[in-house]
Amino acid sequence: MQAIAVFPSKKSLKLIDLPQPKPQEANDVLLRVHEVGLCGTDREISSFEYGSPPPGSDHLILGHESLAEVVEVGRGVRSLRPRDLVVAIVRRPCPHAECRACRGGRQDFCITGDYTERGIKGADGFLADYVVEDEAYLVKVPRVLADVAVLVEPLTVVTKAADQAQAIFNRLPYEPGPLRGLVLGAGPIGLLGAMVLVADGFETVVYSRDTDQSKQAQLVRSVGAKYMSSTSNPIETLAKGSGQFDVVLEAVGFAPLMLAATQMLKPNGVLALTGVPPEAATAELNVGRALRNLVLRNELVFGAVNAGRRDHLSAIRHLEQFMVLFPDSVRALITDRVALDEVPQILTEKRGIKSVVEMSRAA
Ligand SMILES: [Zn+2]
Ligand SMILES: [Zn+2]
Repeated sequence: MQAIAVFPSKKSLKLIDLPQPKPQEANDVLLRVHEVGLCGTDREISSFEYGSPPPGSDHLILGHESLAEVVEVGRGVRSLRPRDLVVAIVRRPCPHAECRACRGGRQDFCITGDYTERGIKGADGFLADYVVEDEAYLVKVPRVLADVAVLVEPLTVVTKAADQAQAIFNRLPYEPGPLRGLVLGAGPIGLLGAMVLVADGFETVVYSRDTDQSKQAQLVRSVGAKYMSSTSNPIETLAKGSGQFDVVLEAVGFAPLMLAATQMLKPNGVLALTGVPPEAATAELNVGRALRNLVLRNELVFGAVNAGRRDHLSAIRHLEQFMVLFPDSVRALITDRVALDEVPQILTEKRGIKSVVEMSRAA
C-alpha cells in the first residue's frame, strides 16, 4: 500500500510503499482510509517545524483529520462492525499513572505532555491506504454524513472550545438574554466556529483579513452570520464602547489580535483561544486596563486544544445540524479533493479553504 511520510532527519516528504498493516490485538480494527483533511499542522510538519516519528522509525506518516471504513474487527471489538464509517481520535494517553486526565480517558487534558498524536507526535497518521486502530480511539459516524465527515476532526477543536465556553457561561446566576458571538479568523476552524455559534443560537460576527467579496466572506453570510473584514474595519470597531460580545472564539494564532480580543467582551463574557502563536511573538497591550476589566467585569479567558470523545460526539451532532440548516455551506468548506501523490505539492501552496485527500471512494 501507499502512504505519505515525512523524514525529518533528511528533510524530505514523499510517497512510500509499505506492507498493509495487520490487526494484532483483540480490540484492533483494520480500516480502509477514505479521506484525510489537510491543515496548517500538516504544512508545519512538512516544513519540518515539528512532528516526530514513532520510536525507532526514521519517518512519520502524515495525516490526522481522518475518515475511514471498518474492514475487519478483532474478537474483542463490541461497538463497531465492517462497513461502519469512523473518525479517529488523534491524541493517545501518556503512560504515567499520576496523569488523571489520561487515566480517565481525557488525554486532551494531559498533564505530563507525554501523550502521542497520530500523524503529529510519535505515532503514524492516516495518509495511508490502510491503518490499524484500537476501538477505544474510534468514533462511529452516521453514513448520511459521509461526504462531509472528514470535517469532524477539525470541528472538534471548535466544539470543545464552544462547549466549555457554554459551561463557563452556565455559572452565571441569571438567565442571559440573546447572546452575541464573535469569531476571529475565517480559516477552516473559524468558519466551523461560526457555524457552531449560529447553530447554537448566537447572533454571530466573523472578523478576518479576507475581503468582503472573498469566498470566506460569502460562506460566512451564507450561514446567517455577519462578516467584517479587517481591511475596512479597524480592530477598535470591535471593542467600541464597553465591548460587544458574550463569547469570542479566536482561531487565528496572531498574538496581538489574541490580546486585543480581551477588550471585545461584554461584562461576564468569555474568550476562548484556539490559535497557537509563535513563541517569540510579542504584542502591546494596556495591561492595567485589561486586568482591571477581567476582574471588574467577571471576564474569563481560556485556551483549548485537541478534543476528547464527547467533543467528537458534539461535533457529529453539530455536523448533522449544519446539514439541515446550511448543507451547501458545509460542502463549500471543502474546496478541493486531491489524490495521495499530489500531497507533497499541495502542502507547499496555499489553496482554497480546506483541501481533502481522497484515498478510496466511499462505497
Ligand atoms: Zn488539522
Ligand atoms: Zn497524560
